Amino acid sequence: MTDTPRISFEFFPPKTVEGREKLYKTREALQAFEPEFFSVTYGAGGTTRETTANIVTDMRRDGISIAPHLSFGGDNEETVLGLLNQYREAGVDRIVALRGDMPSGMGAVAQLVYANELVAFIRRHTGDQFHLEVAAYPEIHPEAESYDDDIRYLKGKFEAGANSALTQYFYNPDAYFYFLDQCEKAGIDAPIYPGIMPITNFTNLARFSRNCGAEIPRWLRHRMESYRDPEDIRKLGLEVVTDLCDTLLEGGAPGLHFYTMNQIGPSAAILNALGFGDEE
Ligand code: FAD
Repeated sequence: MTDTPRISFEFFPPKTVEGREKLYKTREALQAFEPEFFSVTYGAGGTTRETTANIVTDMRRDGISIAPHLSFGGDNEETVLGLLNQYREAGVDRIVALRGDMPSGMGAVAQLVYANELVAFIRRHTGDQFHLEVAAYPEIHPEAESYDDDIRYLKGKFEAGANSALTQYFYNPDAYFYFLDQCEKAGIDAPIYPGIMPITNFTNLARFSRNCGAEIPRWLRHRMESYRDPEDIRKLGLEVVTDLCDTLLEGGAPGLHFYTMNQIGPSAAILNALGFGDEE
């Protein structure tokens, strides 16, 4: 196992004041796991530009290591430069650079900028100011032309200046280990951190997974679908995802990136079960 696995937690920007208050509590509680950083997603097409930036700058004021997700979306260079300057002034030192997706219905009005171009843009304008994380897909990005092309484009993101990658979530550890082997063969030597999605609400997870191309193993789907009591789903989810994380860390994964859905419980329970932090 890696000596001290890197832990990070991802949030989405809440729409309401209550949601925001809850997020601050979540962040405070998850701090107990000494994460390397928290990150805040960026709404498809830049739809959360202000909320993402506000949360990030607010949390920076509290001295938190926080990384905004960023994509061009439908924005021009000036708008993206404005955000980068805002982040630089706030003392942000890490960005998750993405192509992103367009919100449905907006696909035709703007050309998406590939993530490697955004990485190159950030490096060109801000030098080494930011550690750049990019996205990787052990089960292949849904629009990828082929497995090899997807890896080639991931390599392009590192060649453009990215430092490390966070993966889409998955439940089959072999997909991750095979992907790492293929990346290594392609000459990628940067760390690739597995993205971990705790399982709480299975109906939502199944819908979301269809959209983002993450596979839920057949046995797990059938088991989950047979449960009526949400507590049974939660218990099996905890067991399965804890085992997954254990296998990943034992197999040499350099850390874990949690998709928290702004909740404390699911990520904390997995980390506690793995022996991180204090038992509750
Ligand atoms: P890219 O790396 O640009 O790849 C997109 C597709 O184009 C792939 O199929 C790739 O094979 C292909 N491709 C890449 N480069 C080229 C090229 N030069 N020429 C031709 N084809 C190419 N979405 C959001 O909207 N907001 C978020 O905050 C957000 N956070 C995420 C965090 C993580 C860790 C992950 C894994 C995903 C996240 N996403 C987010 C989803 C992501 O935006 C989508 O998966 C999006 O469709 C692809 O983004 P990307 O940065 O991986 O794109």
